[in-house]
Amino acid sequence: MAESARYIERRWALEVFPKRDITLVRGRGAEVWDDDGRRYIDCVAGIGVASVGHANEAVAEALAGQARTLVTCPGIFYNDTRARLLEKLASIAPEGLTRGFLCNSGAESVEAAIKFARLTTGRAGVVSAMRGFHGRTLGALSATHKKEYREGFGPLVPGFSFVPFNSAAKLRAAVGGETAAVVIEPVQGEGGIRPATAEFLQAARDVCDETGALLVFDEIQTGFCRTGRMFACEHHGVVPDMLCLAKAIAGGVPTGAVLANERIRLPPGKHGTTFGGNPLVCAAALAAIEFMQEERLAERAEVLGARFRERFEPRMPRRVRALRQVGLMIGVELRERCRPHINALAEAGVLTLPAGTTVIRLLPPLVISEAEIDEVVEVLVRVLS
Ligand SMILES: *Cc1c(COP(=O)(O)O)cnc(C)c1O
Repeated sequence: MAESARYIERRWALEVFPKRDITLVRGRGAEVWDDDGRRYIDCVAGIGVASVGHANEAVAEALAGQARTLVTCPGIFYNDTRARLLEKLASIAPEGLTRGFLCNSGAESVEAAIKFARLTTGRAGVVSAMRGFHGRTLGALSATHKKEYREGFGPLVPGFSFVPFNSAAKLRAAVGGETAAVVIEPVQGEGGIRPATAEFLQAARDVCDETGALLVFDEIQTGFCRTGRMFACEHHGVVPDMLCLAKAIAGGVPTGAVLANERIRLPPGKHGTTFGGNPLVCAAALAAIEFMQEERLAERAEVLGARFRERFEPRMPRRVRALRQVGLMIGVELRERCRPHINALAEAGVLTLPAGTTVIRLLPPLVISEAEIDEVVEVLVRVLS
């Protein structure tokens, strides 16, 4: 069994990821188990997906019930479950973002937001930030700065340009009458857990208002309680015209969404999706969001994030250069490459992610317990010392 999954995947996958030598077979809450029965605290969580915990009972129930009722219903028909999800999304959205478009992934939601912005404004330009990450499809990739992700896939989509993250002056200078959209992560995830300043986000809002461009926040990683608020833009009170969502939205089921205000309007037939908004994922998303609200996961992320900082900061090993953190979105920047330490942490029972070459990223399920957070701190201190 242990050999077979590894052997079979190595033989048959058109592999795109650098693989780690672990076969995960089961999860519960913030824990996962490998095929040898070893238990890990999972600070990868499906790359920030499993916020409501692995094998969440409410999500499992909703999926099973909907699977026996109606799995697929294309957007050409109305559907009761989809209607409830759209209403729920509007009720938790930042002010005015009451219209939802449902799709299947993060990249797809960025892709849709770019198309919606071009159609709405009649302009082509898209300005995004260096070190930003918006996905791997050609449009989303064109808004992603990192050379390694772009190289070899050109020509990418024309009209895209970049400004240094958190440089309000450069952003103001880059946005004008040709700009359809400014696309920004309120906290850069892949880029190393880097929070945007209030000044940068406000400048983005102001320059969009002055020029008629649309402001798009990519909250695919920061959304749904991760940073201690339902959406990270709430920390600064800056409201975008569109919000891109995915990752934690449906308890692990592939789902994306664009939430938009009334400025964004599309003639029917201009955009579409076969799977987007199907009743199965809508049932899962409804269950996941209701769970987040009932269990107050935003508050929990804030409280447990503070607990992590209080315990880790005074004991930070010397090879740590900086701790950057918003809620349970945690980046531990080292003075050296992080890869060997990520492997050592896994050996010690804590799964973590890189964000660039030097940052260890932790995105634990938001249902993680106090004791598990303390255990993560102990392991980090021991392994990094
Ligand atoms: C993960 C991520 C994406 C891409 O999402 P996929 O579902 O992998 O396409 C886009 N933007 C941000 C900020 C992300 O974290």
